[in-house]
Amino acid sequence: MKKMKRRVYMDYGAAMPLDPRVLEAMMPYFTQVCGNPSSVHSLGREPRRSLEDSRGKVAQLVGARILEEIIFTSGATESNNLAIKGVAYRNRNRGNHIITTTIEHMSVLNPCKSLGKEGFEITYVPVDHQGVVNLEKLEGAINDRTILISVMYANGEIGTIQPIKEIGKIAKDHGVYLHVDGVAAVGKVPVNVEEEYIDLLTISSNDMYGPKGVGALYIKRGTKIQPIIHGGGQEGGLRSGTENIPAIVGMGKAAEIAQAEMESEGKRLSHLRDRLISGVLENVKDSHLNGHPTKRLPNNANLRFSYIEGESLILSLDMLDIQVSSGSACTSKTLEPSHVLLAIGLAHEEAHGSLLFTLGKQNTEEDVDYVLEALPNVVKRLREISPLAPKIR
Ligand code: PMP
Repeated sequence: MKKMKRRVYMDYGAAMPLDPRVLEAMMPYFTQVCGNPSSVHSLGREPRRSLEDSRGKVAQLVGARILEEIIFTSGATESNNLAIKGVAYRNRNRGNHIITTTIEHMSVLNPCKSLGKEGFEITYVPVDHQGVVNLEKLEGAINDRTILISVMYANGEIGTIQPIKEIGKIAKDHGVYLHVDGVAAVGKVPVNVEEEYIDLLTISSNDMYGPKGVGALYIKRGTKIQPIIHGGGQEGGLRSGTENIPAIVGMGKAAEIAQAEMESEGKRLSHLRDRLISGVLENVKDSHLNGHPTKRLPNNANLRFSYIEGESLILSLDMLDIQVSSGSACTSKTLEPSHVLLAIGLAHEEAHGSLLFTLGKQNTEEDVDYVLEALPNVVKRLREISPLAPKIR
């Protein structure tokens, strides 16, 4: 009997469904609780309590001990901008040098580029073939004008997790602030701002099954930073604007669930990930894993297939109702290969032949088997018509 076709979504890195428990927690704040947390009268009390309750849940997830160290924003892009520009402008009298890496997300690279036009000097530290930041080069890049280091905790595209504690130690020893873009890591692997010497940490809601349009920035007490949005002085004066209470409540709930389920879900996903990776490497000739083999996110498998294009693979798999991606959804509008894949030393055609699987809550072992059954045939067929493939294939 012919096997049933099934829908297999493995692009959780691009978009995650809202956890139904998160939606349930948010609902009353759309329909029943309408007050403004800044109001003095009694209707301000409930939203104020919920705001602080969510702040506590987000703080707990990342090991922050002081509630005021968590600032709610409109999302990770804003948090990255606030961290980088806010620290740069406020500390300009101390220096104008910022260090980051070649594999950061555009919401880190572009604020740095923009600061570069305003007289700041930016050093881009390279990574090795597996995507790990070169610590010697990082430390060697620090000079007496350096004010900030910005390194992502994990790369959502190649899955590699950075040695953040070591980087934090280097930053601390040199008296330089460390900002960490934690979007791909927080909620999936343990992150602890105190133990890892992190001064600023970007936290996403929509990357942990929470709502979009909200995010957070951890700012260690005493960090010199200035706002980039000015207004009524909410969020300790660092992020003005009426708080988006339903979304903040949702993010708090998402953080609470992520903390409670991180260990079990991490184990389940890394088992599925490893089954997928080894199944592909064993069954598809000339396939390779991008990123680090072990220091990688539990839900990430980035695989490279010689002689074919990732885009045609995506479309062919989509016809079998398997949704994957070729890299970051944020840069898919350009025809350029991923800057991350080029930074780990891949040639243009190798970068173009890469496929990104990001697994999530709804994926099962049967999903992985379905992909492992479909993929070798799709690769074979595309290679047969590829001008890049050797003739004997
Ligand atoms: N940093 C990283 C590592 C990301 O992957 C993303 C996109 N998910 C962002 C920052 C920006 O997040 P958002 O588009 O939700 O603002």
